[in-house]
Amino acid sequence: MTNRPECFTQHLSSLPYVLIILAGLGLITGCSEFDRNNADINSNSGEITASSDFGQRIGNADNEPQNWLAHGRNYEETRFSPLNTVNDSNVSSLGLDWFYDLDTDRGQEATSLVVDGTLYVTSAWSKLHAFNAVTGELIWQFDPKVPRETLSKACCDAVNRGAAYWDGTLYLGTLDGRLIAVDAESGKQIWSTNTVDPKMSYTITGAPRVGKGLVFIGNGGSEFGVRGYISAYDANTGEMRWRFYTVPTEPGKSDGVASDTVFEKFAGESWTGDFWNASGGFGGGTVWDSMAFDEELGLLYFGSGNASYWNKHYRSPDDKDNLFVASIIAVKAATGEYVWHYQATPGDAWDYTSTQHMILADLDIGGETRKVLMQAPKNGFFYVLDRTNGQLISAENYVPVNWADGINRETGRPNIRSDAYYWKTNKPWVAFPGPFGGHNWHPMSYSKDTGLVYIPAQEIPAVYQEDKNFKPFPLGVNLALDMRPMILPDDEETVNAIKSTLKGYLLAWDPIAQKEVWRAPHRGPWNGGVLSTAGNLVFQGDVDGVFNAFNAKTGERLWQFDSGNMISAAPMTYAVDGKQYVAVLSGFGTSWSKLASRLAWDDKGPRQNKSRLLVFSLEGNKSLPLLKRKLPVLGQLPEQFASEEQVNQGEYLYHHTCFACHGFGAVAEGLNPPDLRYSPMLHSQAAFNAVVLDGALSSKGMVGFAKSFSESDAEAIRAYIIERANQSLGSN
Ligand code: CA
Repeated sequence: MTNRPECFTQHLSSLPYVLIILAGLGLITGCSEFDRNNADINSNSGEITASSDFGQRIGNADNEPQNWLAHGRNYEETRFSPLNTVNDSNVSSLGLDWFYDLDTDRGQEATSLVVDGTLYVTSAWSKLHAFNAVTGELIWQFDPKVPRETLSKACCDAVNRGAAYWDGTLYLGTLDGRLIAVDAESGKQIWSTNTVDPKMSYTITGAPRVGKGLVFIGNGGSEFGVRGYISAYDANTGEMRWRFYTVPTEPGKSDGVASDTVFEKFAGESWTGDFWNASGGFGGGTVWDSMAFDEELGLLYFGSGNASYWNKHYRSPDDKDNLFVASIIAVKAATGEYVWHYQATPGDAWDYTSTQHMILADLDIGGETRKVLMQAPKNGFFYVLDRTNGQLISAENYVPVNWADGINRETGRPNIRSDAYYWKTNKPWVAFPGPFGGHNWHPMSYSKDTGLVYIPAQEIPAVYQEDKNFKPFPLGVNLALDMRPMILPDDEETVNAIKSTLKGYLLAWDPIAQKEVWRAPHRGPWNGGVLSTAGNLVFQGDVDGVFNAFNAKTGERLWQFDSGNMISAAPMTYAVDGKQYVAVLSGFGTSWSKLASRLAWDDKGPRQNKSRLLVFSLEGNKSLPLLKRKLPVLGQLPEQFASEEQVNQGEYLYHHTCFACHGFGAVAEGLNPPDLRYSPMLHSQAAFNAVVLDGALSSKGMVGFAKSFSESDAEAIRAYIIERANQSLGSN
């Protein structure tokens, strides 16, 4: 391993936020060098005896290239299609064949499925739709009627990333935690089971997977103080077969489920403090997205999320690993019995989830064919593991990182830098990557033709600072961080300078050599999921709504289509009667638009949001109705009534809870959720309290926060938003 990734350079500026970013730059290791190591894990594999014809269809997905039967197309989750009618020589003729306007104005993240001429896709609010894949005619729609107040439990919009298909039945996880089986022909519910404790802030946004007649589903909520787990349900009856918690319960107690043994054996000892109750955050480690079912080895791999709270000081203050947060875990798929784990970020305190997409492949490593699992988690390193035993084969940083000096080859552990421990240093720390990750949930793709993994990569630093006075509130996010250093300045020049330091690009990565082969830059950092095909093509959308096709070998951009709306979802491709189609969802929303809203705007204001399913073909020639841009309407600015002390208190409270939906510094993208600086409620404390304390807008997802905030707290928050409205909009 002698590869040295390209060193990191960044635009210099004298502006304050940029300065703090640059202060972190000196600490960046863009050029670290390290090698393989052995993780301390057991080798074992499960056995599943049940048989299923449909499993064989997914297992032999390349025998039916016209279909897309599973979330990642096949059990290996490669998102590579053997279809090549659309290829590098004719993709420039690709055009819109049909489209469908969805009935939501939220983010869209789902990958469609296609089974024998019918296209199934989920949308925001966990709705499921079936279309004639040729004509675009809606066959049926299933709406699980998720209560809109569930939005207050969701970190990252009302999104859904897809359904699973198994033998005539579709499986859907809903935002409020149900797993529902739906008849694929009629669209009628077959069974529904609640998978979560409704008193806790659990949500489901990920796609279930099905293997050997079991449906696997996890959930999210680590920012809200939950305890992560994954469960398996009988595909026919909805009966739970097993559950595996990723973090332990209260010391001395057990759950009576599959994970008990491993916590008793060794994993429980990796925790200290009050992690197991509300004052400690319940541990986190939620299984909110990636899974891979290994038919051959009988294993299920799943990735776990960040620890809760983010700040380790308030969660589990000793220097222990907190297993199994930020890890890849392998269990026997039939029973949930622990087999191995690899923890990418021991003792995670940075939201460095390992829930990112995992791809299985057989790679030639040093002349030997190894069964590997590949992942590019948020922490910025690309990992190649031996999936039979969890041994680390190699890891290199695929984006600039400054939290660790490489991965130790002997121990499999990162060499974490001391200044990353922001709760010990008492200093704000500028991290590369930040909580958005070097790569987020957007699926990668692996092409057997090119041998490359295509990663939606991004460079978005963030400032971590301990909240010295942290107390958890009963509703909303609890991070134990002071988020105020993340407030952006008001002047456009500074914001533009910051924008220029952020990067997003499609990265073609050689997983054997662990090095970059090419990159295709996008205008914004938050770039969408990826599809690769045997037509020597890679398809990907971006934050600006441009849908692209690249030459898979060279990265040359061969085709573009302006969808007019952010594309986060991964494209997929299918064929009916020999004609190839490419489908992708567009829709503004997701965590990026909520938290980095100001960086997503241009001077014309945010895009109007119309979520759409877009389907392309070589014969397609439809045009898309344009969406207008508009800035929110500003009425008379409210007058400040409060003292500076009240405003400061309001700023603190706002950045404890409200920022997570309404943006840093009370600046939101203005579509949904609203930008509070423009709110007419600012003119009346009674009106403000009716919403903020009493939940007058619960039906829109804004629940009342009376359990968290007193009347004087609400007054302080209103005072802070009024201050921000006058500061930032006063000259308009
Ligand atoms: Ca998280």
